Amino acid sequence: MFALSKPTLSFPPLHFERLRADVISAGICVRCGVCTGACPVSCIRMDAANPEPHLVAGTECTSCGLCVAACPERGVDYAELSAWQFGKTLDRWDLGGVALKGFIGHIADEAIWQTTSGGGLVTGLLIHLLSSGQFDGALVAGFDEEQPWRAKPKLVRTREEILKTTRSKHSLVSIADTLRELRGRAGRYILVGAGCHVSGLRKLQQAEPAWQDKIPLVIGIACGGNWYPEGTDYLLRGMGITDPAQIVEFAYRAADGTGANARLQNGERKSTSKRFGHDVYRMNLLYHAEGCSACPDLLSVLADITVGDTGPGKQSFAFLRSAQGIQAMEGAVRAGVIVGEWHASVDPRRGLRKDHPLRVRIKYREAYSVIARRQADGLAAPCYGSFSLDARALWTRRRNRWIWEIIYFLVHSLWIRRLLSVLPSDLTYVLGKLRGTWELSDSGFWGGMRHSPGQRPRGDKAGSPAHTESRRPSSERA
Ligand SMILES: Cc1cc2nc3c(=O)[nH]c(=O)nc-3n(C[C@H](O)[C@H](O)[C@H](O)COP(=O)(O)OP(=O)(O)OC[C@H]3O[C@@H](n4cnc5c(N)ncnc54)[C@H](O)[C@@H]3O)c2cc1C
Ligand code: SF4
Ligand code: SF4
Ligand code: SF4
Repeated sequence: MFALSKPTLSFPPLHFERLRADVISAGICVRCGVCTGACPVSCIRMDAANPEPHLVAGTECTSCGLCVAACPERGVDYAELSAWQFGKTLDRWDLGGVALKGFIGHIADEAIWQTTSGGGLVTGLLIHLLSSGQFDGALVAGFDEEQPWRAKPKLVRTREEILKTTRSKHSLVSIADTLRELRGRAGRYILVGAGCHVSGLRKLQQAEPAWQDKIPLVIGIACGGNWYPEGTDYLLRGMGITDPAQIVEFAYRAADGTGANARLQNGERKSTSKRFGHDVYRMNLLYHAEGCSACPDLLSVLADITVGDTGPGKQSFAFLRSAQGIQAMEGAVRAGVIVGEWHASVDPRRGLRKDHPLRVRIKYREAYSVIARRQADGLAAPCYGSFSLDARALWTRRRNRWIWEIIYFLVHSLWIRRLLSVLPSDLTYVLGKLRGTWELSDSGFWGGMRHSPGQRPRGDKAGSPAHTESRRPSSERA
């Protein structure tokens, strides 16, 4: 299907430069920080001046290959990792992953519930598992104390620390610092992260087994996509905040469902005039990370527990994929920290939400469309092992493929992006809404998607060869 090009290497194949060439310079790094936290000699850094991983001057990469092996944007073999982790492989259309049980509910404490993204299942689980002494801490996404509008990884140990890190951060978050901190520590920890953090950790756990005992429980959050931090700067401008140094508190989604909001030093509150969902359309056009567009993992399929929003009612759903996951949730329910109902048998392909099968498929297909486009342009792209498929099979209507190509071209054109940034946000909202409605309609963009779960779409040949490696950037071809 895709001819593999033969790279010319001027460095050992497992050197950090491999990662720079395949992912960072190729523009698909999602700044998850797994490579940086994994480096045993701490020679990679990500900082405010250069947020993408880079070698620290004066240090020497030993070519151990851990960063290269762990990076989720070089590719993830979901089927193989699921078999390794949960004893069950995945067919390429098992996009929800394995689930032994399901749960829908919320944290019992009403006051805390108001401060969480959805039902607060993540916060409830952490409070129960840390306060009962089962774990020594958890790696989560919080905010920077000095710049409270910037997401920052945190290692939390107490209830008070957990409560400072609730809610979704709609900005890429690196777990480099917290992973690195764990390297020298004894104890058992929990990772809370999006699909890229989870799959990066699973790859690291395979490459360096000591991480299996150190992080025996992984909680994944459902993640449809994320934005570069510049997206947050755009939100702040929309809120009329010219000096972010005045911000003492910031949230992307207010408890009452309104948009991003901030409290300033003088006590004044600022918020976007629209709901956060309204701003999302414009942020998608301008600041969506390219690596997120190529990521198919909406439901964090390699986590022990995956938590996501159920929509109205501020409840969360959870897929429990392993015995550890079930034990953790049962303990929190028994202790009265979490309330809700169990779903004894759950088909993750159908999900616990009405629109799940469709949403999961859209993310999967969008990822493969982006990968196909990048490959056609001779750019590196992640590869998903046996999840991979011939991207041409995604298109059941030739017309729609052309429309996709035009949209892809427009969204990546610098001039069009400049134009979009000055259009009134109401206009981009309407355009985004129209596109969304058309995408989901029967005659729409992703035509032919409404097949029942597990059934292959028209054109996807069973057993058709999967590509096993991404193309190298053209600059590296022999
Ligand atoms: C970028 C993004 C996209 C999302 N897309 C979807 C979606 O498509 N469908 C859906 O159902 N839900 C989506 N969510 C919501 C997510 O599923 C909820 O955060 C999850 O349901 C947890 O809800 P909760 O009430 O239990 O969270 P809380 O109890 O409020 O805890 C939230 C936890 O999430 C972690 N977290 C927050 N932001 C990030 C981040 N950027 N990266 C890694 N970890 C983070 C924090 O560490 C915290 O522990 C998205 C969230 C984010 C951040
Ligand atoms: S993890 Fe290994 S290969 Fe990567 S930069 Fe560090 S020493 Fe080099
Ligand atoms: S995607 Fe993550 S692991 Fe890969 S290079 Fe970027 S920060 Fe490192
Ligand atoms: S869309 Fe994928 S790569 Fe992007 S933040 Fe979410 S899980 Fe990570």
